[in-house]
Amino acid sequence: MDYATFYRRSIDDREAFWAEQARLIDWERPWDQVCDNSNPPFTRWFVGGRTNLCHNAVDRHLAARAQQNALIFVSTETGTERIYSYAELHREVQTMAATLQSLGVKQGDRVLLYLPMIPEAAFAMLACTRIGALHSVVFGGFASVSLASRIDDAEPTVIVSADAGSRGGKVVPYKPLLDEAIRLAEHKPAKVLMIDRGLSPFERVAGRDEAYADWRERHRQAQVPCAWVDATHPSYTLYTSGTTGKPKGVQRDTGGYAVALASSMKHIFLGNPGETYFSTSDIGWVVGHSYIIYGPLIAGMATIMYEGLPIRPDAAIWWSLVEKYKVTSMFSAPTAVRVLKKQDPAALKKHDLSSLRALFLAGEPLDEPTAQWIAESLGKPIIDNYWQTETGWPILTICNGIEPAPSKFGSPGKAVYGYDVQLVDESTGQELTGANQKGVVVIKGPLPPGCMQTVWRDDARFVKTYWSSIPGQQVYSTFDWGIRDEDGYFFILGRTDDVINVAGHRLGTREIEESISSHPAVAEVAVVGVADQLKGQVAMAFAVLKDPSVAATPEAALKLEGAIMKLVDEQLGAVARPARVRFVGVLPKTRSGKLLRRAIQAVCEQRDPGDLTTIEDPTALQQIKDLVQG
Ligand code: ATP
Ligand code: MG
Repeated sequence: MDYATFYRRSIDDREAFWAEQARLIDWERPWDQVCDNSNPPFTRWFVGGRTNLCHNAVDRHLAARAQQNALIFVSTETGTERIYSYAELHREVQTMAATLQSLGVKQGDRVLLYLPMIPEAAFAMLACTRIGALHSVVFGGFASVSLASRIDDAEPTVIVSADAGSRGGKVVPYKPLLDEAIRLAEHKPAKVLMIDRGLSPFERVAGRDEAYADWRERHRQAQVPCAWVDATHPSYTLYTSGTTGKPKGVQRDTGGYAVALASSMKHIFLGNPGETYFSTSDIGWVVGHSYIIYGPLIAGMATIMYEGLPIRPDAAIWWSLVEKYKVTSMFSAPTAVRVLKKQDPAALKKHDLSSLRALFLAGEPLDEPTAQWIAESLGKPIIDNYWQTETGWPILTICNGIEPAPSKFGSPGKAVYGYDVQLVDESTGQELTGANQKGVVVIKGPLPPGCMQTVWRDDARFVKTYWSSIPGQQVYSTFDWGIRDEDGYFFILGRTDDVINVAGHRLGTREIEESISSHPAVAEVAVVGVADQLKGQVAMAFAVLKDPSVAATPEAALKLEGAIMKLVDEQLGAVARPARVRFVGVLPKTRSGKLLRRAIQAVCEQRDPGDLTTIEDPTALQQIKDLVQG
């Protein structure tokens, strides 16, 4: 079918369209109403229907593929490789579910998971949805204070955790951080279920901490049926990455989410039952929820769960897995590709990648040099896709599963079916319908299935944050800038708070970053707007060099700075030229690899950088501080 028709139907004939998609999953009871939007912006999908996420991800496949691979766990940290068939996964999930029930977890309760990338994390997520409990996965890298605030928000009955994670061969103990977090939190979980990997000895709190190894023995043969829940029953809560401020607790439903994932696996991610999917994300992020665990399993695929770095033991590790497990679809982030780009390109040529159909990338802007490099190195289609924790699945991409279409460098693609994506003028709220007009990317309600239901326990914040920022219109704001070309391809220009105003000219930081990163010496760059008495704001650039030695002396650095400024002058005009281009060893990013521009900006303006709970490497900000103040 041609994509334009498919898309139009999803908007103009919404109910019939989604009723069709809903047949991709199993229902215990069909819905009475496909879409209830009588109380916008709170949309309810498949009202009256009953289903279960875990059933659709696991049990449903037992008849046809019990002995096929379901979960392939690979840890280059501990040197472990373990494969679970669908039957084995079913067994493990039931054992975990019985354990959670023994510890008092009931339908509607929250279970907080503070875990590294281990199979038990998948078992626990699936066990929760199996019994109708909500999981709240907190990324394993967070420290006590961030964890404590999430414990207080979720108020979990049980926390599932482990002794330690491992990163780059270094053991990272989790238990002391968890104990401290529980001490700090007002809400105290009744039980902590500990998975002991034998990596780091820990103290047990009597009466509270339970050993999963013991419970696993006890419930080795437990039968725990899936609890059929309303389609609108929340399946989980998850925080946004915290790039722009305090993270928001996203609440997801069950039926709409299962349908959206099943549909996207087929139409976007080109996944077929029996094939292998490899997403390099972490279960702590939305990509991990949708496309390590639920999406591939709902599609009846094997999914690879990888604990480790992309470059250890060497830069070929991911590609060796593609070859070994005949990965057909792979999903990663531009930040990971940039890491690989700094390595020996021969690593990408060492393995047979013939099984791979495409590499999907999301999470941040995919700059053209990076896209070009990976496309050429792999010789495979690179499919950029743009979405948010809030939406749960792509908003913009190329739906090659419906109708193959070319990608355009720098563009994630067209509006995905179900999403009525528009561009609006930020100050007037007027829709911009012409080609190449720059506006805020918004979605006209109702949001399609799979998107957030509300902010966890804070309906008012949901309305205020997402649906009230555009004057005169109740539309969902993504808080990203974009343009759409004459062919309907969108280009994301950056976040609405990443625009700088130099002497009355509004410039997207992304445009300046693209220009700077086209300089051959530059590996990565962040541009922020900094308050300036004369011009209102000026652009400041912080760049990481491919080879830092080229700017080792102050003279060499100045010379390179001049050359980069000249390049920006030529490409964008003098108005976009940064006031300074400084060189740093590493840029401050969230743990999911997103640039923390707001923190850089705050440091440049000598302000408090605010909530830094999601920062990957705090020394990165210190480097900038030293430069700015030095
Ligand atoms: P917070 O909302 O807490 O500030 P966050 O927005 O970084 O954090 P996520 O939901 O993980 O949290 O990220 C979504 C954002 O990431 C998008 O709004 C967009 O700015 C950016 N993004 C994601 N994918 C792409 C892409 N393919 N191209 C450009 N930008 C992208
Ligand atoms: Mg966001």
